[in-house]
Amino acid sequence: MNESLGALHELSGPQMRAMAESVLARLIPHIESLRTQPALGELRDAPQQCRSMREPPPAQGVPLDDLLAPLFEQWVPESFNSAGPGYLAFVPGGGLFPSALADLIADGVNRYTGVWQAAPALVQLEANVLSWFRTWMGFPPETQGILTSGGSMATFSAIVAARHKLLGADLRRGVLYTSDQAHHCVLKAAHLAGVLSDRVRMIESDEQLRMRVDHLAAMIEADRAAGLRPFAVVSSAGTVNTGAIDPLDTIADLCAKEELWHHCDGAYGAFFHMVPSLRPALSGLSRADSLTLDPHKGLFLPYGTGALLIRDGQALRAAHGAHAGYLPPLADQEFYDPSQLSPELSRPNRGLRVWLPLKLYGSAAFIEALEDKHRLAKRCANALAQLKGVEVFAPPALSLFGFRVHSSNEATKAVLDRVNAKRRVMITGCTVGGTFYGRVCVLCFRTRAEHIDACIEDIKEAIDSGL
Ligand SMILES: *Cc1c(COP(=O)(O)O)cnc(C)c1O
Repeated sequence: MNESLGALHELSGPQMRAMAESVLARLIPHIESLRTQPALGELRDAPQQCRSMREPPPAQGVPLDDLLAPLFEQWVPESFNSAGPGYLAFVPGGGLFPSALADLIADGVNRYTGVWQAAPALVQLEANVLSWFRTWMGFPPETQGILTSGGSMATFSAIVAARHKLLGADLRRGVLYTSDQAHHCVLKAAHLAGVLSDRVRMIESDEQLRMRVDHLAAMIEADRAAGLRPFAVVSSAGTVNTGAIDPLDTIADLCAKEELWHHCDGAYGAFFHMVPSLRPALSGLSRADSLTLDPHKGLFLPYGTGALLIRDGQALRAAHGAHAGYLPPLADQEFYDPSQLSPELSRPNRGLRVWLPLKLYGSAAFIEALEDKHRLAKRCANALAQLKGVEVFAPPALSLFGFRVHSSNEATKAVLDRVNAKRRVMITGCTVGGTFYGRVCVLCFRTRAEHIDACIEDIKEAIDSGL
């Protein structure tokens, strides 16, 4: 494709094919070489680079190849290789290629999946996916859900639903509880939902960084005594810091007794519930009133796919439903209508990018991959625990754990810097109450034993070289 396109006419068949071929000719070799690409790209002078990219709106078109060249040769490589097998940082996922094809189809046909009537069968595919999630998470049949752009938006809609159902118009007295290890999206979601920071309690966590339910109970009692209205608890099914899982069953018991809404943040951990051997670690998850899931993590999909499940589907609808005279009459409630269950109206067809890979591979392949990531994380934690000077914070219940070197923040940071400078793997850390932990998170479907061994080797070498 060496010519610019000119007017916005429909492209001819051969033109469309040629454009798609140009893209695939770059994309497929890129994906094939992920294994040999560095785990983090060269980010020389990012501010300078970004400043140099600023430009006025393009009045004339340029040929596709001229646009693809810097994209694939420069801009993509200048980033964390968040799709690669050596990416053990933050929370990876990888991005399954069939989802990219599903997006191509979704964008190519560009049918409207914001309201049920516009594309009932396509919307039903999304409903099917949500009902599969419900089954895997052990939620009851009346559960409703919604596919979102990510875990943050799922958590937001859950808090809005809980607030609407339990507080009505009495917003200001409502109090929400979470732990000091909760993901920062919980605070953000509470704030956006009208629960301001002076009404969010960050409950202290125990020595394993799980929410202390005795403190939670005491805080609820104190708030009630002060005339406030406790309404929701947000627990974690795997924290982003160290993978700690809150005592979900005990929290569920307390919420039942106190008549509070229990939302569980499973953005990192929930999909491990699909693995029978790991289900006991997540015991109580199925009892939550609502659950955040992140298919772009635990189902290895590309970024932009989160999900929410809500036991009381009517509460989700009551908080988000709206109608206008110019739209088709509302669908029968038997059918899933995204516009009635989320803040969005027009939206991307998110169902297809989940549905296609699940149907293509079948759930057994995902269960096997999740089990494998758990085993690899254990292999890594066990090997690190053998190294002199290394202390593994807690063996990985799922596929994420923290570690420290020489019980020192500086030494731990120095090890991370040296490991990342080698660029075979990328690991990141977190600070918890002044203590810095290195963390290893294994959740890219491409990660294999050889990458874990490279991680162990590079950490060992960094320590042996003296700090
Ligand atoms: C990733 C993550 C989130 C936020 O989800 P996004 O998809 O990034 O919006 C929330 N909680 C936990 C535990 C996470 O790992």
